Amino acid sequence: MRKSALFLAAVITASALTGCTETSEHISVPKLSHMSSESESEAPVSSDTSHSTDTSDSSGAAASSDTKSSSTSESTSSTLNASSSSSVKSSSSKTASSTKKLPEKSSSKVYTSFEPELKDGVPEGETLTVPSGSMLEIDGDFRVEGTLDCSEGGLVVVKDGGRLQLDGNAVLNGCMRIDEGGEVCGDGVLKLVNNFDDIDCKGGFTAKIDPPAPIEKNGVTYVGGILLVNKQYALPKKYGSGLDPELQAAVEEMRKASGFTMRISSGFRSYTEQEWWYNYWCSVDGEEIASTYSALPGHSEHQTGLAADITRSELDYADTPEGKWLAAHSWEYGLIIRYPQDKVDKTGYIYEPWHVRYLGKSTAKLVHDSGLCLEEFLGVCEESE
Ligand SMILES: [Zn+2]
Repeated sequence: MRKSALFLAAVITASALTGCTETSEHISVPKLSHMSSESESEAPVSSDTSHSTDTSDSSGAAASSDTKSSSTSESTSSTLNASSSSSVKSSSSKTASSTKKLPEKSSSKVYTSFEPELKDGVPEGETLTVPSGSMLEIDGDFRVEGTLDCSEGGLVVVKDGGRLQLDGNAVLNGCMRIDEGGEVCGDGVLKLVNNFDDIDCKGGFTAKIDPPAPIEKNGVTYVGGILLVNKQYALPKKYGSGLDPELQAAVEEMRKASGFTMRISSGFRSYTEQEWWYNYWCSVDGEEIASTYSALPGHSEHQTGLAADITRSELDYADTPEGKWLAAHSWEYGLIIRYPQDKVDKTGYIYEPWHVRYLGKSTAKLVHDSGLCLEEFLGVCEESE
């Protein structure tokens, strides 16, 4: 934090900035368009291995997912295009994981140089505002003990070798990009005003993010553009029509990279399918036990089209080479293990080492780096609130 890390150039093309623009990566947009058929269900996985949970899930669900996925892609094509472009970009960056910064950018935005008076950081009690249309570049140590305020239309870039030590606050109305080799750390809090797509993270991020409050659109809940479904938040009965193409692409990319089968054993599940499965598992285990592994209709993440069960829905999948690979690397492909072993009290579901949720690479990385489950990350844990 001693050396000044700010660099303001003249006019910089920020095609680099991904999230900033209208491209809301995965979730936000597609969801709305998805609303057509009914779906939703949670993968029934019994805690005990006695019943073949997967089978139940996968059988009906898997088949349906495949079929429906196509329809999904079509219906959401326009929106998805935007999102897919971003994901593509992120994927390319991932593959060429080094200096690839911002590959393509459909909407390249131009930022002008920004010459802050405070070159070494923001002292306590002070506020540094990055105006709209301006870009603040950090490529050394930059410590914020006061407030860093990025206006809407503004951009903060933490470059390779740059470190934003956030001990105070940052308010992100605009966008932030953390390049590989860049880092945002500290005990402070970044208040995210809009969407997670406004952060394009390929570097390290260990500071806390304070996301916006949940909002509801057409009966669907979003937090910072992330569609949220759990025991508390449900989907409308008619929501969903198939697997999201971005999820499918992510799994495919993962499959190739890993060399494992990585079969989607259960993908999209409609509301009515989930209803069937939930009732079935209740008949087998009773409602109390069934609810720990099977979601009520409307509450299954599988209805979003953004979740999938990989290969085999059994606990010992976690001990297989493929299961271990999935746990270690899925986030690199934009997927998180949605129901971690140590978060049962937060998610409400048993450990499901096979169930992944697509978030896009940047957000999946943020969640992974945080060590939090999605409920914690999005600030919607009932306990913590
Ligand atoms: Zn599942």
